[in-house]
Amino acid sequence: MKKADVFVISALVAICIAFLFLFYGTNEGTYAEIYINNQKQDTVFLNKNIKKTYESENGGKNTVVVKNKKVYVNFANCKDGVCIKSGKKHKKGEIIVCAPHRFLVEVH
Ligand SMILES: [Zn+2]
Repeated sequence: MKKADVFVISALVAICIAFLFLFYGTNEGTYAEIYINNQKQDTVFLNKNIKKTYESENGGKNTVVVKNKKVYVNFANCKDGVCIKSGKKHKKGEIIVCAPHRFLVEVH
């Protein structure tokens, strides 16, 4: 391998790392979609603080809060409370699931 080749390869690797960094750097979500029973109920924007309660068919309730560009469930009447324990989400692709209510929040 010539010295020039090593240089080119190093440069390519550096560019790849830079792209990866850029990709992850812009991984912040801008909005979240709320689903119940695989049906889209709502879209909430992470730059706007809200507090909203969603009710599923079986009487299940989940209160979704958006605060400081993060979305979370702060109240739910499900038995396991997994959705509340999931905590705050703000990255694209992150989800909060409440299985007993078939309730889902997905960050985009
Ligand atoms: Zn739950």
